[in-house]
Amino acid sequence: MSATIIRNGRVIDPANKRDEVGDVCIEDGKIVASKSGIRNPKSEIEEVDASGLIVAPGLIDMHVHLREPGFGHKETIDSGARAAAAGGFTTIVCMPNTSPAADNPSTITWIKECAARAACVNVLPTGAISKNISGEELAPIGSLAQAGVVAITDDGYCIQNHELMRRAVEYARMVDVPVLDHCQDYNLVGNGVVNEGYWSTLLGLPGWPAAGEEVIVMRNILLAELCDHHIHCQHMSTAGSVRLLREARRRGVKISGEVCPHHIALTDEAIQSFDTNYKMNPPLRAQVDVDALLEGIADGTLSILASDHAPHADFEKEVEFDTAPFGIIGLETELSLFLHLLVHKHRKIDIVRLIEMYTVEPAKLLKLDAGTLSVGASADVTLLDLDLEWTVRADEFQSASRNSPFDGRKLKGRAVRTIVGGKTVWRR
Ligand SMILES: [Zn+2]
Repeated sequence: MSATIIRNGRVIDPANKRDEVGDVCIEDGKIVASKSGIRNPKSEIEEVDASGLIVAPGLIDMHVHLREPGFGHKETIDSGARAAAAGGFTTIVCMPNTSPAADNPSTITWIKECAARAACVNVLPTGAISKNISGEELAPIGSLAQAGVVAITDDGYCIQNHELMRRAVEYARMVDVPVLDHCQDYNLVGNGVVNEGYWSTLLGLPGWPAAGEEVIVMRNILLAELCDHHIHCQHMSTAGSVRLLREARRRGVKISGEVCPHHIALTDEAIQSFDTNYKMNPPLRAQVDVDALLEGIADGTLSILASDHAPHADFEKEVEFDTAPFGIIGLETELSLFLHLLVHKHRKIDIVRLIEMYTVEPAKLLKLDAGTLSVGASADVTLLDLDLEWTVRADEFQSASRNSPFDGRKLKGRAVRTIVGGKTVWRR
């Protein structure tokens, strides 16, 4: 028997419309009613003083690259899970672009078994849409669903053949898993490495035009309508994408979009340093795009926050800008960046909506039994200090990689304790 009482925190549980100062009680890994409290008198009760803190359902990041199997030198399931815990996340959804790719049931089983053994947070795998993520032939979507994937995606790549994508969405509908898509038209984007615009021209770097994303967002809207099934557009970066999603969602199309912190924290102006930690896909955009993303978050067009945590080793990133791999790590800075930018600085949403975008929204999309402090739910809890000022120190990260453009940044607000299944897996 184990029990914990988290006392006197501001409990924010958007799933139950709860926002009040009170207690949260945990017994044997589950949330129990706070009024009746701990029932078993033999329980050894741990008391956590949460005065001045926010007590939220464990946060979910639905866009993480854990790099195992195949690229353990960048990140392992163990190190990625520890990074998640340190960032306030109790559940992470990992992308299938591993080696071998997660395009078959045995790789999914391997990931689940490895996570059960090594990960301190819940790790939920996605499966690939196409075999070997090559965009040519569909992966066995039904078997992947049976093996327990929470969604399918070719993230990092994008299926260019619209007919193949249509069949993928139809299969996904039959087995009731959502489709996530990395929106990139290969012909329009070509060898682009940074946003096509002023800075790409000035610096002479190949441009990645906004239309290269928007064309696929439009394709996905049309296919979501045609197939009557949900498509979620990953890491949205342009004003045009926000406009397309807003219009489609108003018409009731089953389409959604997510935002990553770097796309609102930075613009393509940052690439003049030629620091490869500013190279990601989709690229950093212009200020008008950042403004549109902020409006999209404020009006609910963009409903999910995620990191696109993409670890790379130093030797891989320390090369010329053109040849460096895309992507940055994000698990240990994303919550703070969003708290800092959305709640404190731009005041686009309040803390309740921010928690909802990290809990209720991804749980609803992926049909997860998570993201709530309901009685009987698994005791996944994140404690936040909204006003704690701190400085990002990349050398203190739990992640096995260091490729963050936010090293040294001063931020306000962060997670201070992460509890998974009633057990504290990280505390500051
Ligand atoms: Zn992607």
